[in-house]
Amino acid sequence: MWGIIATWRMAHDGVLAAKEMLAADAFAGDAMETAIKMVEDYPYYKSVGYGGLPNETGILEMDAAYMDGTTFAIGAVAGITDVPNPIAVARQLSHEKFNSFRVGAGATQYAMLAGFPRKNMLTERARRIWEKRCEEIAKTNLSPYDGHDTVGMVCLDQNQRMTVGTSSSGLFMKKAGRVGDSPLSGSGFYVDAEIGGAAATGLGEDLMKGCLSYEIVQLMASGLTPQAACDKAVYGFTEKLTQRYGKAGAFSLVAMNNQGQWGVATNVEFTFSVAVKDGVCGIFMAKPGGNQTTVIEPITQEWLDAYEKRIKAPV
Ligand code: ASP
Repeated sequence: MWGIIATWRMAHDGVLAAKEMLAADAFAGDAMETAIKMVEDYPYYKSVGYGGLPNETGILEMDAAYMDGTTFAIGAVAGITDVPNPIAVARQLSHEKFNSFRVGAGATQYAMLAGFPRKNMLTERARRIWEKRCEEIAKTNLSPYDGHDTVGMVCLDQNQRMTVGTSSSGLFMKKAGRVGDSPLSGSGFYVDAEIGGAAATGLGEDLMKGCLSYEIVQLMASGLTPQAACDKAVYGFTEKLTQRYGKAGAFSLVAMNNQGQWGVATNVEFTFSVAVKDGVCGIFMAKPGGNQTTVIEPITQEWLDAYEKRIKAPV
């Protein structure tokens, strides 16, 4: 068996590339890194890598993580700048016994010393969007925190190895040094190759409150299917948070077990991409279906066309 599942429509081209690699017996980590890099490299995805949206002060700070489900090795970066592929830096850090989660200047310095290329990741387009948002916020009372997504992937290869990875520029207009869930083990991602893995996207501040990726993996360990585990964790926690904290931010999780079965749950409209051996391959739309269930439908051409137009619309 092999398979890969990833958050958002933006992951799909990467998923297709990973699919070819997995079918040809590649290591899950290589297939997944290739897929995440494709998202990081694409300038029109404004919440990941090149073209990502900056923090309040106009600096593009990125978070990423890599985890190996066989060895439990984790590498992560938070608030890294000027590096084309934070996922590759996170993966490299996963080989370190000590200092494997680096933040800010320390993360960037690690990447430079390790020989990763340097690149100004703030595109002219992203800078214009930031400038426009600064003007809007000055004029209105709108919450600045809009427009954020993470690419998160869970990957299973033919040799039952599993990896999970995330990459994000976090919340648009975040305060300098703000870190989301994406580089945090258990919250943004988790994988145990003897069970399965999960990855998250959504409001990091709330995802951290529930450690939802770890929760889903533990629910799968207790015998739940990935779909049942996602439903239970996501809807259960949305309810709990609403009762006890007053409100729950938007969040969505994807999961896959080591048999290639997968699941998704979300408290908003959420697109994802999945490919498994001899099974589905495509982009889907998920929505909460009530009673702790998720409705999953194939994406429509109309939606895809509108998306394409939206991400490339003049600023
Ligand atoms: N989880 C990310 C963060 O809070 C953002 C997102 O995925 O929407 O940094």
